[in-house]
Amino acid sequence: MFNLVIFGPPGAGKGTQSEKIIEKYQLAHISTGDMFRMHIQNDTELGTRVKQILADGLLVPDSITIDMLEEEVTRNKDVRGFIFDGFPRTVNQAEALDAFLEGKGCKVDLVLQLDVDQQVIKERIAERKKISGRADDDESKLVKRIDEYFEKTIHVLPYYQEQGKVVKINGVGDIQAIFGMISEAIDAAI
Ligand code: ADP
Repeated sequence: MFNLVIFGPPGAGKGTQSEKIIEKYQLAHISTGDMFRMHIQNDTELGTRVKQILADGLLVPDSITIDMLEEEVTRNKDVRGFIFDGFPRTVNQAEALDAFLEGKGCKVDLVLQLDVDQQVIKERIAERKKISGRADDDESKLVKRIDEYFEKTIHVLPYYQEQGKVVKINGVGDIQAIFGMISEAIDAAI
């Protein structure tokens, strides 16, 4: 198994690059944001619990997120590995993921950090809002999401840096060129 975490602030291009990675390396894609949105759309019990949290741009509590993720990993049998997109977002989630994967005899092999500065993020999300219609792409909610990122999520980085797993990629520029750098990092780690 080869397990990859794609890491970066909202609007860094995690979803875009994940699609390319999946196609080339045939990993199973797990996006906790997409999963939450699916639950909300389908009016599930979980969806009802998290709807307002997402709308406010806040993080869903760890226990809910971790349970949902572990279920999804377990459901995907016989895969070559996973790409975790939007997870882990807290050190607690990172520790839970390590323990969970260890129980399965595998680990996080690589963390790709997509590096994009705050001004670029704001511009990209303003553009995305026009087509995504995502309520949390509103300016006020975006500020909240960026705050959550710098308060809670950024600490996941040193956690993985200590394990020597992080490769930093410049997330600004041509999508294909960024994917080229990502491919090099994966090929070196796989
Ligand atoms: P983006 O990367 O653009 O911020 P996502 O689609 O990854 O968007 O996430 C959307 C929202 O889903 C987050 O703002 C948060 O409310 C919730 N969410 C997604 N992943 C997690 C997570 N790992 N922990 C807590 N909340 C999460």
